[in-house]
Amino acid sequence: MQTIYESFLASVDAVPGKALFERPGAADISYAEARDLVQRLAAVLTETGVQPGDRVAVQTEKSAEAICLYLATLQVGGVYLPLNTAYTGAEIDYFIGDAAPRLFVCTPAALADHKARESGDLRVESLGADADGTLMDLAGAAAPRGDHVARGMGDHAAILYTSGTTGRSKGAVLTHGNLASNTAALLQSWRYSGDDRLIHALPIFHTHGLFVAANMSIVAGATMIWLTKFDGEQVIDLMADATVLMGVPTFYTRLLKSDRLNRDTTANMRLFVSGSAPLLAEDHRAFEEKTGHPILERYGMTETCMITTNPYDGARKPGAVGMALPGIEIRVTDRETGATLPDGEIGAIEVRGPNVFEGYWKMPEKTAAEFRADRFFITGDLGQIGEDGYLRIVGRDKDLVISGGYNVYPKEIEGLIDDLPGVVESAVIGLPHPDLGEGVTAVVVAQPGASLDEGSVIAQIGDRLARFKQPKRVLFVKELPRNVMGKVQKAELRKSYAELYK
Ligand code: ATP
Ligand code: MG
Repeated sequence: MQTIYESFLASVDAVPGKALFERPGAADISYAEARDLVQRLAAVLTETGVQPGDRVAVQTEKSAEAICLYLATLQVGGVYLPLNTAYTGAEIDYFIGDAAPRLFVCTPAALADHKARESGDLRVESLGADADGTLMDLAGAAAPRGDHVARGMGDHAAILYTSGTTGRSKGAVLTHGNLASNTAALLQSWRYSGDDRLIHALPIFHTHGLFVAANMSIVAGATMIWLTKFDGEQVIDLMADATVLMGVPTFYTRLLKSDRLNRDTTANMRLFVSGSAPLLAEDHRAFEEKTGHPILERYGMTETCMITTNPYDGARKPGAVGMALPGIEIRVTDRETGATLPDGEIGAIEVRGPNVFEGYWKMPEKTAAEFRADRFFITGDLGQIGEDGYLRIVGRDKDLVISGGYNVYPKEIEGLIDDLPGVVESAVIGLPHPDLGEGVTAVVVAQPGASLDEGSVIAQIGDRLARFKQPKRVLFVKELPRNVMGKVQKAELRKSYAELYK
């Protein structure tokens, strides 16, 4: 198997003049041009003192140059460590302290602040959204480095921090083998090839935008239509000249609001992928109705890259995340005993394969606690494998509500509430309750003008739920708190309403 960097070189050789990046409003960057910049940046990294195994931490705006910096880091045998652009002050202190990078690349605007961090062990440079910044100045003056540091499949390629949905972000150490094997499995499963033209509107500090979307395109020799943010109308315009869109569920919710989304505007597209958070079954159905395209939902996480996918050929089922990718095993186990459960039962989703990370950076105990003796990784998600062989996720272990000693799976209740007329969406959480341990609580977003209140929601779902599952309270909010990947921040909600039953 080749590393991602070696595959990139092979793509440059195969299609040097083809655009790797097509940027509306800015010049294209061909594969050969990208290699030139990558190899200049590699020379700069080497001059800066980046040795094989050293971390290169990057907190910049989304740009083609940042992808080139990622490839340059791989070229010199470094470990790429992208950081969410939203982190500030104390959060950045934590990440830099934790990761101990050799080089930290920040935005030009933040350079003056971060320069103070420089020491014998840490260099700080900048990279801007317009190919500006001190790193680009250095690259402009450097001679491209042609050779690359040979890396084995077990060597570290990246540290990616998890989204921090359930607590403090953890650094997942990913190897070249993790990235290369997962990319190969996805290329095969989704029939992704050099003929594809991907609309890339995701952030590139998470696995979805970087290790799914960008790695697949680079390895396939495909073109990325490079957008620095998601704009539904612009994406619809671009579909006439694109073949694939990879999105988080909120992309689809927003696309569905446009009256220009239809069979004609999506006629050139061959594939719509959704992941990172659950896609509303309702959105799946509405999208297929309007466009004729069933969205392909897949499931993965920072620690494991992608795990399961709905089939390319065959039924793409709303509310299901499909089957394990080639070479990957999944099982569902009892949360407490770890015993494998028969199909149909809800339990902990576990995964084993070449995609599974080495461990959490500097967290040996946490790492050990999340692996079984037979190397299955405990994902922290709960789910069920149906008779049809499809995996369905019912929520996160940490979001499981235990009320009066009974397990309540939020998704079941959310599904019923979401189906009520006048409801946009809902989140069901457990809040500290003096008698029950946790009280089932629904937080609901209603459509403007809908005549819904607490009593009517409880009355309408009451006869379809066992008493212990029925929400004790229903709260209405304008919108649910979400992070950049569109994930509902249930921990935020639990914090906001912690006193409700006290
Ligand atoms: P943290 O681990 O820091 O709490 P996080 O788990 O949100 O944050 P990521 O690794 O970015 O960080 O996200 C992986 C999680 O996203 C999965 O464990 C799962 O809960 C959720 N997820 C991804 N794809 C899907 C999907 N198709 N359906 C439902 N959930 C999904
Ligand atoms: Mg997680």
